[in-house]
Amino acid sequence: MPGFTPGRRWQPAYYPFHRSSLPQSIMVAVERTVKGALFGCRMCGNCLLQETAFICPMECPKGLRNGPCGGSTPEHCYVDPTRPCIWYKIYERAEKMGRSGRLLEIFPPLDWDKVGADQWFGVIGAWNKKGGLKATLSLLKAPAEERKQAYERFLYDLRQPSWWQGDALAHVSSRSEPASSLQEKLCLGQFVVTAEVSPPISASPDEFVKKLMLLNDTIDAVNFTDNPSATSRMSPLACSVLCLQNGLEPIMQIAARDYNRMGVQSTVLGASALGIRNILCLTGDHSSLGPQPHSRMDIWDIDSIQLIWMLRRMRDEGHFLDEREIKFPPSIFIGAAGSPNSSTLSIQVQRETKKINAGAQFFQTNLIYDVDLFEQYLALLDRSGLLGQVYILAGVAPIRSVKAAYMMNKVPGVHIPETIIKRMESAKDPKEEGVQVAMEIIEKVKKFRGVNGFHFMAVGWESIVPRLILESGLQDLRLRRTAAGNLSTG
Ligand code: SF4
Repeated sequence: MPGFTPGRRWQPAYYPFHRSSLPQSIMVAVERTVKGALFGCRMCGNCLLQETAFICPMECPKGLRNGPCGGSTPEHCYVDPTRPCIWYKIYERAEKMGRSGRLLEIFPPLDWDKVGADQWFGVIGAWNKKGGLKATLSLLKAPAEERKQAYERFLYDLRQPSWWQGDALAHVSSRSEPASSLQEKLCLGQFVVTAEVSPPISASPDEFVKKLMLLNDTIDAVNFTDNPSATSRMSPLACSVLCLQNGLEPIMQIAARDYNRMGVQSTVLGASALGIRNILCLTGDHSSLGPQPHSRMDIWDIDSIQLIWMLRRMRDEGHFLDEREIKFPPSIFIGAAGSPNSSTLSIQVQRETKKINAGAQFFQTNLIYDVDLFEQYLALLDRSGLLGQVYILAGVAPIRSVKAAYMMNKVPGVHIPETIIKRMESAKDPKEEGVQVAMEIIEKVKKFRGVNGFHFMAVGWESIVPRLILESGLQDLRLRRTAAGNLSTG
């Protein structure tokens, strides 16, 4: 167990792609030995220790560099329940050290040219470029505040290369025109309803199109998941095109897990060109949840926050990650997942802040069964000044059976209170009871300030969605708000 790291090592050790000189190899061996013993260092070559309260973030099984995923808890990493989530440890220690503000910065993905290489020569080289010994002597004479600023600036330049330039500031879209009809409705103050339709597990679109048609008149946009539970299905890009061809507006989900930085940029350009304008950015379920044989399970190229940051910069600044100009940038409305079921909401809200700062314009939340917890989540967002900065669509799904309730309660990031489980267990008709529970949740949640709509995730039971929308009064609410919006803009 490394000295200053509260977990055991997870990631494999990294080795450089380039042949190193003898001095470099010696330095790598020294750095690996010292930082390995102290921090469990795996030589990722892109060190964040200064920002992460001296706990190596590469202990995360997903290799996340911008905070915990939605499924983790302070007690357990959901990928490996025998260990704590390393990101909760980072937040706890940063809080104690008064360094939690540093965690709001959006950290870049790994620069693989540096992976496995030594960093100490790099630090010395960078300092020499800034003036080396001369600069050190002049700084020693400078006031303490100036010294601190110069030190922080130096570290910032090391960890934030010119192609990334992440920060902790809010980045609001510079575009005045809505990218999609969904965005336009939300801008006008209309109440919206979206729903998820599972992509087919075959190459035939027939059944899928039938499910789409069931929802036709009752919803504003349809979500297509990206290989949910790390299991292959029809791509959300193909589903989105089928959706457009059938007269509905798609929300294409992108799970960062299945892309590298190159692939995701080309996919988004293509999606925008095809008329797909709503994109929901997710990190994705861990590969170990999927069927065997498992694909690579340790390090992912990008996480959801990095994905949001990249897409916003493509759209608003008109360049690729490699800084090439994009003549016609993509026109997209960027969404993210909201996680209201976290056992430590204060940490989760810091992560939501990061998503909004990076460029998220709407949240579709995880499933809500614990209404009180959701209310606390909204209150914390409000206290952090975030409620007016992002549109929130509350996630709902009816529970189909007692067995489904048990299974859903095991899904990372979902929490069904004991009272609801008991209701399902004692119900004569559990299926109908699940519908009634969902309606009661909608009834309470639709009155909460900050909720701009609902997102239905009735996976495999899409046919129930129109009934829920009609009987819960959501259709009336949609129409009333639409009329009010039209009046105020007319
Ligand atoms: S962030 Fe990278 S370089 Fe720093 S301790 Fe962790 S693995 Fe080592």
